[in-house]
Order: sequence, then structure tokens, then C-alpha cells
Amino acid sequence: MSYRTVVGLEIHVQLMTKTKAFCSCRADVFELPPNTAICPVCTGQPGALPIVNSSMIDYAVKIALALNCVIHEYSRFDRKNYFYPDLPKGYQITQYFYPVATDGYLNIDVDGQIKKIRIRRLHIEEDAGKLIHEGDSITQAQYSLVDMNRCGIPLVEIVTEPDLSSPREARIFVEKLRSILRYLDVSSGDMEKGALRCDANISVVDELKGIQSNRVEVKNMNSFRFIEKALEYEEQRIIEVLKSGGTVEKETRGWDLATKTTVSMRGKEEESDYRYFPEPDIPPIIISQDRIDQIRSALVELPDQKIDRFVTQYRIPKYDATVLAANKEIADFYEECVKLIDKPKEVSNWIMTEMLREMKQLETEQINISPAHLVELFFLMEKGEISIKMAKEIFPEIFKTGKMPKQIIEEKGMRQISDEKVIEEIIKKAMTQNPKAVEQYKSGKTNILGYFVGQVMKETKGSANPQIVNEIARRLLEG
Ligand SMILES: [Zn+2]
Repeated sequence: MSYRTVVGLEIHVQLMTKTKAFCSCRADVFELPPNTAICPVCTGQPGALPIVNSSMIDYAVKIALALNCVIHEYSRFDRKNYFYPDLPKGYQITQYFYPVATDGYLNIDVDGQIKKIRIRRLHIEEDAGKLIHEGDSITQAQYSLVDMNRCGIPLVEIVTEPDLSSPREARIFVEKLRSILRYLDVSSGDMEKGALRCDANISVVDELKGIQSNRVEVKNMNSFRFIEKALEYEEQRIIEVLKSGGTVEKETRGWDLATKTTVSMRGKEEESDYRYFPEPDIPPIIISQDRIDQIRSALVELPDQKIDRFVTQYRIPKYDATVLAANKEIADFYEECVKLIDKPKEVSNWIMTEMLREMKQLETEQINISPAHLVELFFLMEKGEISIKMAKEIFPEIFKTGKMPKQIIEEKGMRQISDEKVIEEIIKKAMTQNPKAVEQYKSGKTNILGYFVGQVMKETKGSANPQIVNEIARRLLEG
């Protein structure tokens, strides 16, 4: 049996403009009390007229350039008409007939293989408000409240071709996209706060029978992990239906965190009639080649370019460069450290293992330390004042508290023992206690050296300088 999975994505990105799409209300509303960033325009009062936010257009062009899209000189806004309590105007301003950009692509790295994922279209639209159901359940709530702060916040919708062939590829795509959005400084990409929302269309092809299942739309996946989990679940569910000879319903399903399954939200969806028509209050958007060139020339170095540069400039493996460049702050941190510590691979190792582990454990994207912390740590290791083992031990505390390595070492009394006399004493003691081992060494079994080194480490609780211990042990045993 062979099944092939086909996935396409629709991603909504909240733009970090200062003001909303068509009015001067502030756009960073996440922590504001309900209905405090609204005006007649974004709440659709009669007679209120929209004005296009030009940074919103620039942001969309930036994203379109980063996704290798064709940017259209002429684009236009349309009205998508539907009724819902979080949409006071009764329509959403979007771009249906003439999107700002089309025909792009994004390369993703799947286990070292580069895969090109085509972007079908990229358009601008406004967000709707938010309903808050009493008791958090729409079915049991006695009443619901409407918060219109989010009405009119600018969004970019990115639609891919169905070029992704596994749930994992979908996750890799969204991770890469988010990284680019953060590089461009156009969106926080924060999935938990709804700044990046991903819906997927998934179907499975039965290659033996040569048939493709209906597409199922999966919503409500608000983290990278849930994108993968939800699509894995859905993929298996569709395959089971195909195996049993059934028909996969064309429907919309939502990821349910409690049961870790997808559940049907809307069955047998028909293409809704939104009665799209041109937005009469906003003139067409004309984007000149000059403006595009200007935005292009101001673009920052993007992750793929950075990866290539890191490989040539610092001679680190592509894998390292990819991990470092995934997050702009980490990439910048790496470069600052390498300027001060001329050990590109060692610094990369340290960031990829010790630092990323701490960030993951603290569930933060913030780098709590400065390059100076790492520089001092490397310096102390180099001077032999601390071992690598000790450095790894104290690093979590450095990261958590922001204290300098020296301070933590002093507070813990953790200095490495490099005092030759102390080490000599311990080895001599071990030699008198175990003359057999000494004989073995002298008769050529030189790997017994490890036993004596181990004795010193035991006595000093691992704080002896291993290099010095090795040297002294060899000298005493051979003497
Ligand atoms: Zn407003």
C-alpha cells in the first residue's frame, strides 16, 4: 500500500504597524482592555471612511520580496460580505480579485534536502474582532461579549500551493516563514497570541488505486507542535478511511487539544457566497517599481543568505549555521561572541547545546546574557581555572541570574584544582594503596593511567584540572 500526503497552507500574519489598516487606532492591542482601541472607522459606523495605512503596504511588499513573489503594480481591495457578531461592518476588507503579490516560493530544508514550496498568492486584509464566550464555551454560554480592539488590524494572508508532502514539512515551512517575518521585523509571529495563524488543507493520494481523497481543512493549530500533531492525526484518519473503502468527507475540522484529535466543525462545506465586490471607498493601490526597489534595497540579510555567509566566513558546518540563523537574535549574539572569541566552532557548539537548552527550559526567546558572559566563561576555561564540566554546571545559573561567571564560581567556591602539590599527594597515596596497578603500568599496560586519574577526580569531586592530572600521573608512574 502506498499513500502520498498532500498539504497546502493558508497563513494569516498580523503586521506590527503602529496603527490599524484603515484608521489611526493603535494596532498593538493584545494587552489593552476590551474596546479601548476603536473608532468609527474600524467599528463600521455610518459615514466613516477608511484611509489606507501606507506602512501596511510596505510591510506586505517586504514579505512578498522575501518570498520571491511577483509584486503587482495594480492591486485593489474588495469587500467580503458575511454576518458575524465580531464583524461590525458586515463585511471584511480584503483583496480577492487583485492581490498585491502572487507566484512566489520559499525553500525549506528537509533533512539537508532543499525543497521548493510555491506561494500561490499573498494579499492584505483586515482582522475581525474577538468574541469572548461566558465560561469559555460557545455551546454552553449564556451570553458572549465582543471585543472590537482587533477589528481593522492589518493582516497578510499567504497561501501556498499544495507542495508540502508531510505534516513535518508543514511545520518546517511555518517555522521558516516565522523566522523570516521576525527578520523583516514586520510581525512578532507569536502563535500563542494569534499573530501567526495557520490553517491547512490536507488530502491523501492512494497511489495504487490512483485516487485522491477529498481535501479536509484543519484549523485551530496554534503552535508549531500542534500543526504537526494535528496533521499527523488527520493524515492517519484519512488513510484509515481510504483503507476501509470509505469516502473522506470534504469538511472543516479543528484540532482539539484536550483529546489530541481533530473534530468536525463544519461538514460538507459548500463554497460560501461572500458576494465579493470592489471596495468603493478605497482607490486601487498602485505600487511603483521605484518603491519596490527602495524596499528591496533596504531589506535585511535573510536566513538563507546568513547561513551561506556563516559557512564561508566562520567555516562552521551548514547544520550549525542553520540552527544559529533560525533566530536573528541568536545569530547576532553568535557574531558578537565570535568577534571576541576567535573560536567559531566552539562558540557555535556552546550556543547550540548549552544556551538553546536553557532557552527551551525557560520557554523564552530572550537571550538573558551578553557576549561578555560567554567571553569570560571561555577565558576561565582556557586559563584552566575551571573545567568544561564546571562551565557546563554553572552556565544555567549564569543564564538564569545574569551574574558573571567569576561571581558564580566564587560564590560556589568552585575553582578548579591546578595545584600540582595537591594532585601529586593524591596520586602518591593511590600508588601506595594499589602497588599492583603501578606494576601493571610499568609492565606496559599504560591504560591503567585512567585508574589514577579517576582516583584524583574522585578525591577532588571532579574539580582537578584533567590535563595537569594526566601529566603528573604519567610522570610519577614512569619515574
Ligand atoms: Zn479605528
